[in-house]
Amino acid sequence: MSECLFCAIAAGDIPGDVLVRTDRVMAFRDIDPKAPTHILIIPIEHYDDVPSVALADASLAGEIFEVAAGLAAAEGIDQTGHRLVANTGQQGGQTVGHAHVHLLGGRSLGWPPG
Ligand code: AMP
Ligand code: ZN
Repeated sequence: MSECLFCAIAAGDIPGDVLVRTDRVMAFRDIDPKAPTHILIIPIEHYDDVPSVALADASLAGEIFEVAAGLAAAEGIDQTGHRLVANTGQQGGQTVGHAHVHLLGGRSLGWPPG
C-alpha cells in the first residue's frame, strides 16, 4: 500500500466517499468536515501540493478546478457561495502531502481563517 494517504485512497486501498473520478482527478468527502459541504479534489497522480501541479501541468490544475466547479453546482452551493482552499506547506496548514483543493460551503465562512 502507498505510504501516501491520498494515493492509497486513489488506489482504493483505503476507502473514501468518492463523488467523482475522471482519468486524472478524483473527489471525495473530507473525513472531518468543517462545513456542511467539505470535499477534497485531488490529482490521481501524486504531486506534493497544488502549486507543484500548476507548475508541472497547468491543464491538470485546470481540471481540478473544473471538477470543483461542477461539485459546487451539484451540492447547490454555486449560487450561495463557497470557498476553494489549497493549504500549502507547513505554515499553510497542509497536513496531507498530496495535492488537494478543499471545497467548502453550506454555511457562512469567516474571514480571515484562524
Ligand atoms: P490539509 O490540512 O489541507 O492537508 O487537509 C487534509 C484534509 O484531509 C483534512 O481536512 C482531513 O480532515 C482530511 N483527511 C484526512 N484523512 C482523510 C481520509 N482518510 N479521508 C478523507 N479525508 C481525510
Ligand atoms: Zn500521494
